[in-house]
Amino acid sequence: MILEPAVETRPWDEQLALDAAAFLPQLTYLLERSPFYRRKLADCDADLGLDRIYELPLTEKSELREATGPENPFGAHLCVAPAEVVRIYSTSGTTGTPSYIPLTAADLENWVTGSARSYAASGVAHGDRVLTTYDAGPFVAGAALDAFARIGVCHVPVGAGNSERLLVALEQLRPDAVVLTPSYAAHLTELRDLRGSSVRRVLVAGEPGGGEPAFRARLEEGWGAHVTEAMGIGDIGPSLWGECEVQDGMHLGARGFVHAELVDPETGGVRELSDGAEGELVLTHLRHRAAPLLRFRTRDHVRVHTKPCACGRTGPRVRCLGRTDDMLIVRGVNVWPAAVREVVASFGPEVGAHVVIRPAAPGVKQEPPLPVAVELAPGATASPGLADAIRQRIRDLLVVQAKVELVPSGSLGRSEYKSRLVER
Ligand SMILES: [Zn+2]
Repeated sequence: MILEPAVETRPWDEQLALDAAAFLPQLTYLLERSPFYRRKLADCDADLGLDRIYELPLTEKSELREATGPENPFGAHLCVAPAEVVRIYSTSGTTGTPSYIPLTAADLENWVTGSARSYAASGVAHGDRVLTTYDAGPFVAGAALDAFARIGVCHVPVGAGNSERLLVALEQLRPDAVVLTPSYAAHLTELRDLRGSSVRRVLVAGEPGGGEPAFRARLEEGWGAHVTEAMGIGDIGPSLWGECEVQDGMHLGARGFVHAELVDPETGGVRELSDGAEGELVLTHLRHRAAPLLRFRTRDHVRVHTKPCACGRTGPRVRCLGRTDDMLIVRGVNVWPAAVREVVASFGPEVGAHVVIRPAAPGVKQEPPLPVAVELAPGATASPGLADAIRQRIRDLLVVQAKVELVPSGSLGRSEYKSRLVER
């Protein structure tokens, strides 16, 4: 179902023209209201259009963090008076201290609108019962929950952290769809045979890899359901992107609110959003008020799809390959943890869905072989040569030397929210 057909099927060049019209006042707003951007853009052309946005500097998360202090926990990019802020989220902050995301009423409204388009793309609609596992708590994902009311589904929030409660709700309330992280979706299929459950759609988000073909096939087999994914980024908005039933990448549900670019993660140089292009996603708010961001580096590494989608939605789609922060470089070769899991998933019933990479050295650069622990499937014993076959396929497909250790089912850590594919 397309929630807003007039918006979501608008020809992409018309969308870009509207975005360009929104960008100029947004840039003026930043220069007038944001001490952070006034300083950062001091030497820039204030009339610069969206078609030349790449001439403006990128914004790093670390810069935003440095611009905060005890006097201003929101940072020097806050643009509104305190009374205009109606909600404050935190990012989970892998680096320790959380950062705060303030929103005006209009910002929140736009977040919910974009998020509702993204989740509706997966096919959930009025009359469906949707069970979600996100906590409404401090994190931006909580705002996505409002999207389910907007779509008009019957929302069953069970929250995170209690698989037993979730499985009972599955049995008794017979939801049509569930919303959870891909690793948790995989974990639940180990606890219970879910192929006969009422669930026809599994909506995954919160971490990369839910779109990788072999891993997705395992989830679809385990749940007897279609799997689609969604993706947001704390500082910009929740579930900005959502995949439709065609299952060929995520559409920009937040179109009109956010402008997307692709850059070379090494140099920051801009890359064209052409079919098959890969790079780091860079996002710019177009109509944001509380603390808008310009050319924000998301650290999400994506592949772009631009062929027309049969659903009728227009614009580029993306598939997330991984977070730049999780990437390892083994003797010059980039290795995404989700790609290692994807190779392992192709080994079928003998191995489980759990994989952990244990880098020997601190930091990004690693010497081969890369230690990879792979769980066997419940009840399975390793056949001779299995570890070697996995090692060989990792070498063939990812061009990296790995050391594969097979471990019993259940021996790697489990998470009811996001999983860790890399352990140090
Ligand atoms: Zn589509």
